[in-house]
Amino acid sequence: MISFLDLKAINAQYQKELVEASKRVIESGWYILGTEVETFENSFASYCDSKHAIGVASGLDALILIFRAYKELGILAENDEVIVPANTYIASILAISENNLTPILVEPDLNSYNIDPKKIEEKITAKTKAILAVHLYGQSANMTAINQIAKKYNLKVIEDAAQAHGATHFGKKVGSLGDACGFSFYPGKNLGALGDGGAITTDDKNLATTIMALRNYGSHKKYENRYRGLNSRLDEMQAAILSVKLKYLDESNKKRGHVAKTYLKEIKNPKITLPKIMPNNQHVWHLFVVRTKEREALQKHLFKNGIQSMIHYPIPPHKQVAYKMFESLNLPITESIHDEVLSLPMHECLSDKDVATIIEVINDF
Ligand SMILES: *Cc1c(COP(=O)(O)O)cnc(C)c1O
Repeated sequence: MISFLDLKAINAQYQKELVEASKRVIESGWYILGTEVETFENSFASYCDSKHAIGVASGLDALILIFRAYKELGILAENDEVIVPANTYIASILAISENNLTPILVEPDLNSYNIDPKKIEEKITAKTKAILAVHLYGQSANMTAINQIAKKYNLKVIEDAAQAHGATHFGKKVGSLGDACGFSFYPGKNLGALGDGGAITTDDKNLATTIMALRNYGSHKKYENRYRGLNSRLDEMQAAILSVKLKYLDESNKKRGHVAKTYLKEIKNPKITLPKIMPNNQHVWHLFVVRTKEREALQKHLFKNGIQSMIHYPIPPHKQVAYKMFESLNLPITESIHDEVLSLPMHECLSDKDVATIIEVINDF
């Protein structure tokens, strides 16, 4: 079976260094908020061309804490509206509603699968205070257009780069394209820990220090609490692991790029729509997502030939039980995407031989 993702093979490449890093943490006797987290935060901030990076417990928490910090700073208030793409992973929307802010779902552009900037302005009201731009599948949203709109209406721009570590837009790294950005280090992401983890990047010092307090019970100083905070910290062990893997992130994204390039060049089947790289973007191929009217048949055909595939995502957020109030929204592009997308195997350890097999099987469909 050609697996969709092979985390074991991915991490085996770095086994020696990962073991050394773990040993260093075990022997240090210090496991929460120490030098490993600080070292990783510094290198990750610099990787993202950002002034600050704050390690937290997950990607969802990273986004939750950005909104929460803006509330504590008086920049956002309960019931403010936040524009978000309708076809994102549910976590983007959870982060908004968790803060009692109102998600305003906007349709994506069918070429990029990212929010369609042309559809943002019609959704802006007096209550709109922010845009949460998601870089879905590994490609930056159109941040040039989004930032222009944000400037015109004085909105905060928050990035969700959980799927796009290392991607660029006009040569600028995601994580530095808005006011603040949330990253996830869930094991299957382009930069994955061996457990949960996340980070926020920002150039805003005020925001960074507020988030640093919020992730640690709301405390700037031990036993003094300014906010009613959370316990949401990246731990020393995951930070040490991530420091190893960050060194290889560009190389690993390059290998994904090689797989994607081969798929794009050699998959030739009129029933299948291939993903597109939008101008001035560097895609990091978190997922290689094709579209077809015959998804079920294609998935079966792949499986029969020993190839695993997945759907990202089968149910759009507005059709989830958790968001019943959005059930009747008219979002035909989002719905057609959820009906037609299929993700092909994509990871840095996929062999040329397996890629060739996958292409052959798809062209045969
Ligand atoms: C994975 C993901 C998240 C959440 O990250 P976790 O670390 O799993 O909490 C948020 N947004 C998007 C787009 C994601 O893909």
